[in-house]
Amino acid sequence: MTQTYRITLLPGDGIGPEIMAVAVEVLEVVAKQEGLNFEFTTALIGGAAIEATGEPLPAETLDACRQSDGVLLAAIGGYQWDNLPRHLRPETGLLGLRAGLGLFANLRPAAILPQLIDASTLKREVVEGVDIMVVRELTGGVYFGEPKGIFTTETGEKRGVNTMAYTESEIDRIAKVGFETAQKRTKKLCSVDKANVLEVSQLWRDRVTAMANDYPDVELTHMYVDNAAMQLVRAPKQFDTIVTSNLFGDILSDAAAMLTGSIGMLPSASLGATGLGVFEPVHGSAPDIAGQDKANPLAQVLSTAMLLRYGLHQPHAADRIESAVLKVLDLGYRTGDIMSADMTAVGCREMGRVL
Ligand code: ATP
Ligand code: MG
Repeated sequence: MTQTYRITLLPGDGIGPEIMAVAVEVLEVVAKQEGLNFEFTTALIGGAAIEATGEPLPAETLDACRQSDGVLLAAIGGYQWDNLPRHLRPETGLLGLRAGLGLFANLRPAAILPQLIDASTLKREVVEGVDIMVVRELTGGVYFGEPKGIFTTETGEKRGVNTMAYTESEIDRIAKVGFETAQKRTKKLCSVDKANVLEVSQLWRDRVTAMANDYPDVELTHMYVDNAAMQLVRAPKQFDTIVTSNLFGDILSDAAAMLTGSIGMLPSASLGATGLGVFEPVHGSAPDIAGQDKANPLAQVLSTAMLLRYGLHQPHAADRIESAVLKVLDLGYRTGDIMSADMTAVGCREMGRVL
């Protein structure tokens, strides 16, 4: 019997619709090859939703996502919505989607593809062979802890407050994603914290250490975040999977991304407790090149591979997509953002066709 998956597509703004069209074509080809069946529903989010309904995340969109097996998001935002009040901005739609679906784990791979090694700003010896996965906690920590706000002290001075807090269960569920991700990779997990200074990090370290008993095949190490930032730039090959809190993960995943030097190539996954996930490129809506058929669709295509691997548990189909991406790069196809001087650029649609 053919396995059917319901996929919600959120093309969003800017280059979103262009790169989403390529991703859908790729999914349709993989469906035939793997004997899968995808039912697509397209819904509004971000600026596109604001224009059509007045709000960045209409209730129908959240409902469509909840009823699906996986959500593929392209990108949201653009200059024309930057001056709206915060609750009406496209970015608020994205935060609402993450909160509404309970997406507490953010997975961001940073792998150096041999074909694109010269895009990195670091030396070839340092970055060659880098393949890192950052697992970032997404719904807790200092971004959400209470109390938070700008308060007035007794002396009349203003005081800004945020609170870094994690409960044991919040730590356990992200640690589990970290161990399971490491198990699918090279079985090396590095937990990053600041346990020498922060109590919340001490609890984090204790819980992660305790969980290691359940994963005897995974080699666990711990690192302080300041050292991790340094090591990531100095000797990134020592890392496989990194698991860390919201703030540290925000910073380290961007640093890891820049090792690769190609923003148009990086996918991400955000996962919740039910197994439902949102899969999207790391880059934004690139309004400067929207509608010109110049966008690199490969981050979106690699996000569909993550949907298949981490959302739908179809690793074979995911492998197929990743191999196809490597193959088009081997054949010399490049969009403008990943092109070197001696090459000619292909457009977004052409890249999709050769895939
Ligand atoms: P956001 O605020 O939404 O995270 P941003 O404005 O910081 O996004 P991007 O929208 O990612 O950044 O764009 C940064 C630069 O990278 C722009 O010049 C854009 O054209 C380029 N860029 C981003 N994504 C792609 C892509 N897929 N293909 C080609 N160029 C891209
Ligand atoms: Mg922006």
